[in-house]
Amino acid sequence: MSTTERPRILVVGGGYVGLYAARRILKKMRYGEATVTVVDPRSYMTYQPFLPETAAGNISPRHVVVPLRRVLPKAEVLTGRVTTIDQDRKVATVAPLVGESYELPFDYLVIALGAVSRTFPIPGLAEQGIGMKGVEEAIGLRNHVLEQLDKADSTTDEEVRRKALTFVFVGGGFAGAETIGEVEDMARDAAKYYTNVKREDMRFILVDAADKILPEVGPKLGTWGREHLESRGIEVFLGTSMDSCVDGHVVLKNGLEVDAGTLVWTAGVKPNPALARFGLPLGPRGHVDTSEKLQVQGTDYIWAAGDNAQVPDMVGRRAGNPNAWCPPNAQHALRQAKVLGDNVISGMRGFPQKEYSHANKGAVAGLGLHKGVAMINLGKMKIKLRGRLAWYMHRAYHGMAVPTWNRKIRVFADWTLAMFLKREVVSLGAIESPREEFYEAAKPAPAPAVAKPEGEKAKAS
Ligand SMILES: Cc1cc2nc3c(=O)[nH]c(=O)nc-3n(C[C@H](O)[C@H](O)[C@H](O)COP(=O)(O)OP(=O)(O)OC[C@H]3O[C@@H](n4cnc5c(N)ncnc54)[C@H](O)[C@@H]3O)c2cc1C
Repeated sequence: MSTTERPRILVVGGGYVGLYAARRILKKMRYGEATVTVVDPRSYMTYQPFLPETAAGNISPRHVVVPLRRVLPKAEVLTGRVTTIDQDRKVATVAPLVGESYELPFDYLVIALGAVSRTFPIPGLAEQGIGMKGVEEAIGLRNHVLEQLDKADSTTDEEVRRKALTFVFVGGGFAGAETIGEVEDMARDAAKYYTNVKREDMRFILVDAADKILPEVGPKLGTWGREHLESRGIEVFLGTSMDSCVDGHVVLKNGLEVDAGTLVWTAGVKPNPALARFGLPLGPRGHVDTSEKLQVQGTDYIWAAGDNAQVPDMVGRRAGNPNAWCPPNAQHALRQAKVLGDNVISGMRGFPQKEYSHANKGAVAGLGLHKGVAMINLGKMKIKLRGRLAWYMHRAYHGMAVPTWNRKIRVFADWTLAMFLKREVVSLGAIESPREEFYEAAKPAPAPAVAKPEGEKAKAS
């Protein structure tokens, strides 16, 4: 950590908002005007919209993350977690990857911690559930699913086989619908390499408490999305929730009980609970309460944006809805980060702050190779697309939206290669415990059993 006479702009979180805000600040800043410090427990930003495609193996995991030190060469990047903020002394406490926590003074603060999976106290969920918020989870899910096929192919126990081939996904929003769409596509495609597993042996189940899936693309396309998934043999249960999943025995409120080897939990997100220790004003659902200028209410040196902030939706409010808030998505996070960056510079120089206002441009979702839905807002006109064309829109949009040209080129290269080479279907489950085999080889051998003299043997028996 550098100690300088310059004011420090501390960016807490190096995700979408943190990365783009820091870039903007560095771009607009005069030489030596301030030190920009970004703190994140990961050394990379994750492009979350690509996690479902990563889980399906269409994109290499390394290509959906952006190394912070490489894209922010003029910033100080610290790998650790901010645990508390003392506003009176203007210091943050940082818990680094290793070693003691330390205090980091700041003059200006950006809060960009994002969200975490929203869970409920459902018996078995913590032990069985796989989330879909980070690249580690996407890699883990892919390995896990392919390992289930390996298990099913090699067992003679019908119960074990049936459980391994049952996959339950809870949550039918963007993350859930895209993940089941991609993973089902990959798993059924992989079945052709297995002697004892057929495409139709697999059971995929999608559960949502709401009465529709994909609310982000509107009711018509959401219905099409559901019907499309059902036409592929995915069972969709709406208006119901999961009561328990102890040891993989899934029980739904609607009475369905099934043993599943895989349980993916994508039932929404909530603001990062670490915010509760920052002493900032929070809204009813735990978001940082932020003005339309992205300034944290009651402060003039703290800004917040993205999934951890409740930002008024000025377009909605001007249209007559006084309770309109920006939804937690990448579209807003990216645009808010740019306004936030400009406002930090203005705040530092004593200039007025800009308002954040952005009209929703629509949404695109991929549901497996060559399948998707897209809704594009062109002023008052809405264009609704589905199927292959929507899937091209999805790829074109996200392929260009992933940060840095380096990542854009790598992602398009992955997609291009996949057109000519077959999909990779190897499970690298051992990647999660890479030292296990070496440990077994290196651990001291047990003492050899000493042969007992004949007489003693007779006594013992
Ligand atoms: C599977 C999936 C698919 C999605 N698809 C789409 C899509 O198609 N379109 C769309 O618009 N949006 C999509 N989203 C949503 C979008 O990715 C988020 O809205 C966006 O990432 C929010 O940006 P953020 O900066 O607020 O949070 P994040 O990008 O999550 O960044 C938060 C950062 O804070 C860091 N952090 C956490 N705790 C601490 C701490 N104590 N100290 C320091 N740092 C900390 C984290 O490590 C992380 O890097 C998707 C999300 C998921 C999970």
